[in-house]
Amino acid sequence: MTFHASQGLRLYHFEVFSPHAGLAHAVFCRQGGVSPKPWESLNVGGGVGDEVARVVENRQRAFRAAGRPLESITDVWQVHSADVLVMRAPRAAGERPPHADGMVTDNAQLTLFMRFADCVPVLLFDPRRRAVGIVHAGWKGSLARIAARAVTRMQEAFGTRPADLVAAIGPSIGPDHYPVGPEVVEETRRAFPHEHAALLAHRGEQTCLDLWQANALALRQAGVQTIEIAGLCTACNMSDWFSHRGEHGQTGRFGALIALREE
Ligand SMILES: [Zn+2]
Repeated sequence: MTFHASQGLRLYHFEVFSPHAGLAHAVFCRQGGVSPKPWESLNVGGGVGDEVARVVENRQRAFRAAGRPLESITDVWQVHSADVLVMRAPRAAGERPPHADGMVTDNAQLTLFMRFADCVPVLLFDPRRRAVGIVHAGWKGSLARIAARAVTRMQEAFGTRPADLVAAIGPSIGPDHYPVGPEVVEETRRAFPHEHAALLAHRGEQTCLDLWQANALALRQAGVQTIEIAGLCTACNMSDWFSHRGEHGQTGRFGALIALREE
């Protein structure tokens, strides 16, 4: 991944996507927005106590810096599900976003946009069929293999071949900062019966879950071969990223977007 400054904002770009001029994508650091503490400053998440007008201004700045019109925003109400939707058209004004945690599209008019503060952003691009996807994977979604579900959706909807896909796993809570309870350990064993040992690390009394590897594994098992992992822990880097755990729930959300450019 590489950082770029654009119009006072700090954008993160994945190297695996850089050869593809037909693609727009970015993960937005928290600098350059208008929100005060505890959402300082580029908070793009509603429902975290910040004022709507500030969130809209922050989204405006983010989309401008990424070269996408805000009217193209396509999003969902993120509910820690394993559901991935095929998005065909922009949402009508006033229409509430559907509940889901992943989106895929082949429509270059749409900009798929999601919000994060520790959960794992997974971005997908099929250069052959020209389609994109984005996923919000917390522990539930990661163990339910939501990233692989997005691959399946792209296969069904666009004829994507998994081997053609380029995937990226963005900044999120790292295994060093993600101790989990016995129920999550149990669920990990159930979800990955042969691989759980590689996903669970024991540190003294604690067991930590590696969400990056869980998502990478789900993608590889779905046939994806090209996967970049940012390897950036949100809780270790709170000057750049919002971290729900690191900031004890009092924080904002950073954005990630992906879109096809018109050719
Ligand atoms: Zn960390």
